[in-house]
Amino acid sequence: MQVLLADEYGFCFGVERAVDMVEDALQEGDTVRSLGPLIHNEQEMARLGEHGVTTISDPVQIGRGETAVIRAHGVTPQVQKELEEKASKVVDATCPFVTRVQKLAARAAEQDRHVVIIGSPDHPEMIGVKGYAPDHAFVIRDESEVASLPRLRNPLVVSQTTIKAKTFFDTAEAIKTKTDDEVQIVNTICSATRDRQDAARALAGMVDAFYIIGGRHSSNSVKLLAVCKEQCEKSFLIETEEEINPNDIIGTERVGVTAGASTPEWLIQKIVKHLETLGAQNKELPLE
Ligand code: SF4
Repeated sequence: MQVLLADEYGFCFGVERAVDMVEDALQEGDTVRSLGPLIHNEQEMARLGEHGVTTISDPVQIGRGETAVIRAHGVTPQVQKELEEKASKVVDATCPFVTRVQKLAARAAEQDRHVVIIGSPDHPEMIGVKGYAPDHAFVIRDESEVASLPRLRNPLVVSQTTIKAKTFFDTAEAIKTKTDDEVQIVNTICSATRDRQDAARALAGMVDAFYIIGGRHSSNSVKLLAVCKEQCEKSFLIETEEEINPNDIIGTERVGVTAGASTPEWLIQKIVKHLETLGAQNKELPLE
């Protein structure tokens, strides 16, 4: 049984940058507290926890002399201000791709235009971006929610960085029915997501089973699962090797592997090795 890794997988630029920034702060001896889990990966969070990184859920929990970390998803300007007032230092690890969406939304709101963001309304990235265009922004999941929008004024349409391109373009097209003004559509899906989805799609048609390694709360990992399922019915989202059911790969010749943008390389390699071991064991099973 061959285990094939997708051409693009694992840590994206923004997550790698955030983890590096936290590690730099640790090296300086800071007491590091992340507002929300730094990344959506329990195993990597446990590793960072061993180095002293803790998570808070509200800026009020920051103590004097502590370093607050804004994770790659970003926060609203209000939350940023609160952190700056309370913490002795703020490490702003907002991914530059998210910063771009925040700036676009802020500029459109300043011009008194509506902003429609296509994504999950309760996702932290969306809450943060919406905060940059107070009273001007709407977050909708997809085309089916366009009807809920009011008439729009010179709208700007942007996306959560991790959504599927088709969802974005179909929804953006439908939004045109909500205004007589020109619609500015800016595709803000980040290339890391697209590259991982394209690579997974390319591999999914060539394998008998597919393992997507990522946290269940990781939006981009869940999207990768959907992309793989389009072509490979036996696609599974797993967090650790313990979740692999050996029966699922009996008789398979090729197994694909990819990983969400929050999955560390050490965990991916561990799971690949485990799959290779299972494959070798299957080979040794006597034929009936
Ligand atoms: S998925 Fe893209 S936008 Fe999100 S943190 Fe990674 S590089 Fe940045």
